[in-house]
Amino acid sequence: MTTIRRKKVAILGSTGSVGQQALEVIRQHPGRFSVDMLSARNSTSLLIEQALEFSPRNVIICNHDHYAQVRDALASTPINVSAGEDALGEAVASPETDIVLSAMVGISGLGPTINAIRNGKQIALANKETLVVAGHIINEMTAANGAKILPVDSEHSAIYQCLAGEANNPIEKIYLTASGGPFRGMSREAMRGVTREQALKHPNWDMGAKITIDSASMMNKGLEVIEAKWLFGLAPEQIRVIIHPQSIIHSIVQFEDGSMKAQMGLPDMKLPIQYALGYPERIRSKYERFCFTDYPALTFEQVDEQCFPSIGLAYKAMEKGGNAPCIMNAANEIAVAAFLDGKIGFVHIPEIIAGCMEQATHIDNPGLTDIRETDREARSLAMELTEQKQRSGVHSA
Ligand code: MG
Repeated sequence: MTTIRRKKVAILGSTGSVGQQALEVIRQHPGRFSVDMLSARNSTSLLIEQALEFSPRNVIICNHDHYAQVRDALASTPINVSAGEDALGEAVASPETDIVLSAMVGISGLGPTINAIRNGKQIALANKETLVVAGHIINEMTAANGAKILPVDSEHSAIYQCLAGEANNPIEKIYLTASGGPFRGMSREAMRGVTREQALKHPNWDMGAKITIDSASMMNKGLEVIEAKWLFGLAPEQIRVIIHPQSIIHSIVQFEDGSMKAQMGLPDMKLPIQYALGYPERIRSKYERFCFTDYPALTFEQVDEQCFPSIGLAYKAMEKGGNAPCIMNAANEIAVAAFLDGKIGFVHIPEIIAGCMEQATHIDNPGLTDIRETDREARSLAMELTEQKQRSGVHSA
């Protein structure tokens, strides 16, 4: 019998939704994977629990304030504990690591993901913001350093799977499917009154808070459109969004002969995570199987761009290029946080993003320093716009 070498996985953001589901995949395939590094920003007790179960070589807590607690809890183990973003950057560069799962939330994932790329790693990319804000830089770096990016986002994993064996066949168009979220079919008027709790209730997918709000506003799909542009080298007009409320077809590629390939399965993030970790192999799993009698109809609708202006904003940012997607992303992160804090209403999220996109300084071909500066500028602008909304008392609108 041949023994398979276990792949050593470093997880950036192990206590988040994708991080936890990745550990579930690893738990089910102990002969395939081992954990080399775990990291979290603030969730110390879960991080400690994970470290005790998976015995990684390194554990990194990004927030220095929690360092002593994590170090003391793991003092009787051989695990190296360190703190801060620099430690994270060093750990992903380790020659011991085979795969880096980039699953931090928002632009915070950019720095460590870049370091992993610079060190030629295989990246399982769940952090879509990395490509949204710096796709041109990431693609160049990936090619220059012999790194490889495997998408974890379910739609992009679907496209990637559809492209297997099609290297010489150009894509005519891709269709990214969207469930439509909890507010599909709602009028713009009704959307004014929606609460945080309603927005956090996604009909099909179990995800973290930030991405769940992004799904409700459909900015998640907007970010995914830009992510797809960079992953698959597409022009804006080759990328379409279609509402598919059952979330069974995860996305579709249309080739130049008119033929379409779709990838389908139950909505379970463990599948795209496992595909990215196991690539190019499909590993046998016991996850629940799709049953046709549970889904007598798979349906499709057009996006209502009046109700969901975020999609239009994302196309606008993508067409404008340069640092425009970075501005959009930063404004969105601030607006979503403000909505989750109860400071603004749901419909104010796209309004703040649009305002920010109009006012922030445009840069045509930004380098990494420009990206970071743009992110800072757009965040402070978005905070000002948030305060203006609060002051005008529109929250209860
Ligand atoms: Mg997705």
